Amino acid sequence: MTVHFPFQNTYTALPDGFFARVSPTPVVAPRLIKLNRPLAVRLGLDPDLLETPEGAEILAGKCLPDGAEPIAMAYAGHQFGYFVPQLGDGRAILLGEVIDLDGVRRDIQLKGSGPTPFSRRGDGRAALGPVLREYIVSEAMAALGIPTTRSLAATITGESVMRETVLPGAVLTRVASSHIRVGTFQYFAARGDTEGVRRLADHAIARHYPDVATAEHPYHALLEGVIARQAELVARWLLVGFIHGVMNTDNTSISGETIDYGPCAFLDHYDPAAVFSSIDEQGRYAYANQPRIALWNLTRLAECLLPLFSDDKDKAIEQAQAILGEFPSKFTAAYQTGLRAKIGLLTARDGDETLVQDLLDAMAKNQADFTLTFRRLADAAADETHDDVRAQFIDPSAYDEWAARWRQRLGDEPQTPAERARKMRSVNPAFIPRNHRIEAVIQAAVGRNDYAPFEELIAVLAKPYEDQVAFADYANPPAPDQRVLQTFCGT
Ligand code: AMP
Ligand code: MG
Repeated sequence: MTVHFPFQNTYTALPDGFFARVSPTPVVAPRLIKLNRPLAVRLGLDPDLLETPEGAEILAGKCLPDGAEPIAMAYAGHQFGYFVPQLGDGRAILLGEVIDLDGVRRDIQLKGSGPTPFSRRGDGRAALGPVLREYIVSEAMAALGIPTTRSLAATITGESVMRETVLPGAVLTRVASSHIRVGTFQYFAARGDTEGVRRLADHAIARHYPDVATAEHPYHALLEGVIARQAELVARWLLVGFIHGVMNTDNTSISGETIDYGPCAFLDHYDPAAVFSSIDEQGRYAYANQPRIALWNLTRLAECLLPLFSDDKDKAIEQAQAILGEFPSKFTAAYQTGLRAKIGLLTARDGDETLVQDLLDAMAKNQADFTLTFRRLADAAADETHDDVRAQFIDPSAYDEWAARWRQRLGDEPQTPAERARKMRSVNPAFIPRNHRIEAVIQAAVGRNDYAPFEELIAVLAKPYEDQVAFADYANPPAPDQRVLQTFCGT
């Protein structure tokens, strides 16, 4: 039997300028490293067939499944604030779209499958390490409940790629509710192609914001929708200590999913100024800067949409500014609600914001681990004598002072301590993809061809909110000599 992909493609029906038709470049010896079987089933694919040699050949881009219409999408983008009028899928090829079991249209894309007309000076390939990192982190984000692209499979190609050293080549099969980015709009806007912007906006509305199609001003409503989802998304990132690392406009999805896991990282100790990416020398994409950058990126999207808003440019700008003005309050609402839930408050009172901020300030001053502090706080909520959380603070008295105020505030809340602790554990993960764990997994795979640590890490991260006692060590921050100080995009 051959592997069947139930493709129902729509992007290829857009005009020629939206993409280039290009097939993956065959590789010598594809081998499947990991198939995400539950995700395959959700996509209407047969996981057993995908695990056959033929399946591996498809997932590594050696052969095409029936019905695939492989394309590289065109886009532009601001990279670190500088506009590049043509980027595009330089090493990714969209095979096609399927409708999943929830009725949602999903792109199936190969990343690292060979050069395209958009490759510029790149080789179109991906190295094994970054493919494993994207697999781990995207699946961890999904398990945390954060909108994200998914990883269907990782294959090795049997070929080498040249980076700073020679590395094994790999292909990631990425699944997204679409790959339309802010940069996709910029591609057409930069060419003065208003009709292209309109076609893309109509496609994005039909696909991601069907409710706005009947709004009085659908294009305004599209911008509102993207702003709402991005505000929520970035709040969710901050609430789990995620740093995207390269929030360029070409890495900002119109659907509101986290996309493009390059030099991303998670906080260990809480530090709002944390930057891990080796290429982010100015700290543009630092942890606490992410909301500001999201708004900057959305402002670039709004600029693209201006010609669709009104023929009167001043009026269009005024309308865009009014919509963009909603971002701070939307972000703050999502972030503050999330923070309140993290400390066990289900109602909102005056002073809550200060209470949480004082905890964060004490955590920063005392290098408290972001994830463990909140997880242990749930234990402290269940049982007052439980004071493991103190140990997260260099000076535990900083916690004691705060905890006295916290307990007083909890007195106003309706739930029992047990209920409160359960709710807190459902929003404060025990397990996040810690940077040192990812590094260890990559070293084992690349250096020793040992994928057992990769499998184990994925299994632990699939249930981030459960105390998996057998894997308790995965919850721990790195020892001083294990700390990862820098991450690399590895392209
Ligand atoms: P990224 O930093 O991964 O978001 O990529 C930025 C741009 O560089 C996109 O247009 C990518 O397609 C392109 N790119 C990254 N790595 C490669 C590569 N190895 N070969 C060709 N293009 C690449
Ligand atoms: Mg990108």
